[in-house]
Amino acid sequence: MIKAYIKNGIIRVVSGKKSTEYPTGAAAVSLGGKWDFENPYAYFADYNEDELSKLAASELAKLIAINDFGMESLAEFDNSRKNKVYFGKNFSISYELADTVVPCFTLTSAKELFALEILTAAMNKKPLKICENCGGYFFPSGRTDSVYCDRITDNGYSCKKIGAHRQYRRNSRANDLKKLYDKVTKHNRYLKSKGAMSAYEYNNWMNDASKKYADFKAENITSAEFEAWLLGKETPAPRTRSRNTISDYLL
Ligand SMILES: [Zn+2]
Repeated sequence: MIKAYIKNGIIRVVSGKKSTEYPTGAAAVSLGGKWDFENPYAYFADYNEDELSKLAASELAKLIAINDFGMESLAEFDNSRKNKVYFGKNFSISYELADTVVPCFTLTSAKELFALEILTAAMNKKPLKICENCGGYFFPSGRTDSVYCDRITDNGYSCKKIGAHRQYRRNSRANDLKKLYDKVTKHNRYLKSKGAMSAYEYNNWMNDASKKYADFKAENITSAEFEAWLLGKETPAPRTRSRNTISDYLL
């Protein structure tokens, strides 16, 4: 008998002496990919890795398209089709004492666990997302506006850690460019005061500069392009990005 205990967004799946636990939905989005924890689907006698991975891939592709992911939108989406995956299933539920009293679902198939994971994520208002680092699906384990998942990459760091560091580097680069922008503006103002630049030229430059700065902030141009423009240089040819090394991730 396979049981799933759910408490505070964490599912613990128990089969005899084996057990694994993870945040709601984390196993559903790992199907067909890499596992950072023990695969609970493998506990089920009917588990067919290929088949379930295909179902997960097609379901997740549909769920990501739901703008307002939640119980209601999920119901609307599931009820409109013949072979329902989530609703109208008879999960067997009991309340059991495991430290505190928690709902416990008795599951008979791998597909039921998949449905339970998705339903619980919807119930907890965890939207399905695509990670900006690895491109994998994920349900945020913490803040719902997070854009990086908790998967551990080949470098041994989580996407969340890599994302935080990338943001840190982006911010410090943006600060440096803002300083350069202010410095060049100040310099041009000096040139204007000395008559080396006409008021017309100066105003034109200021107009262009504020547009370029807005473009840079909106990520329409790269930091290298903005820097080259400020310095009056040719835009450098885009470099092929070298693979990040471990030291790149150390803050
Ligand atoms: Zn990721």
